Amino acid sequence: MITDSDLHLPGLTDSHCHLTSAELSKDIPAVLDRARSAGLTCLLTVGQGLDDSADAIELARRYRQLRVSVGLGPHGAASVSSDHFGKLAALAAAPEVVALGEAGLDYYYDHCPRDIQRSVFAQQAGLAGELELPLIIHCRDAWDDCLAIFDRVDLGSNPGVFHCYTGPPELIRQLIDRGFYVSFAGMVTFRNADLCRAAAKEVPPQRLLIETDAPYLAPEPFRKTKPNEPALLVHTARFLAQLLGMPPIELAHLTTQNARDLFSLGDY
Ligand SMILES: [Zn+2]
Repeated sequence: MITDSDLHLPGLTDSHCHLTSAELSKDIPAVLDRARSAGLTCLLTVGQGLDDSADAIELARRYRQLRVSVGLGPHGAASVSSDHFGKLAALAAAPEVVALGEAGLDYYYDHCPRDIQRSVFAQQAGLAGELELPLIIHCRDAWDDCLAIFDRVDLGSNPGVFHCYTGPPELIRQLIDRGFYVSFAGMVTFRNADLCRAAAKEVPPQRLLIETDAPYLAPEPFRKTKPNEPALLVHTARFLAQLLGMPPIELAHLTTQNARDLFSLGDY
């Protein structure tokens, strides 16, 4: 049973959500109020395309608890032309922007030809290195190709984060050795997600992040009953704390400190 005190965990950071999505943008003040009541002090809203990224910056100018990542996701890669990267770099110069992405490869949905996905991803990875911004990586069923790109592209000393991790637990060591953080979303609470839980246990505490990826994939116990939103991060946080044998408040502080380090967020 969920009690009122379960619904609040002070000092949480949602390191990845999409506040400009149709589902959440309808009523931002209420979404942010509920997030605040749940204990969230900082949210990173992640752009999916140029227009969406520009909207995210606009939004962050109105709410001081928001920061932004700007990027061109793998699903829309087919409509990316060469002038997109200059425009993305211009957006990245906004003071609200702390990361580039999400960018990556999605061979699970395969909405876009793979060679185009790889090219758009590699160019964004190069840009992230040039701009010295951490990269937020979306990778599904494309691990070898993803790492092959990082063999060629210099991401610098703060390479970024694999968000909403769904890869094999055995790969975690390699990602950590390459300097990445690894982030877990509501999926880690799903009954059939044993591999995801095994992967979470492999991540050293100082490289662990949490996120909602809202409006997608609400955590249990709301998976089938509620659209996802940042306030529901508290459920993923409590679940993960129990899995890792740590008090929830400690997990909240740890993952917030990690987000501050990765995205140079300063104090909130
Ligand atoms: Zn996302």
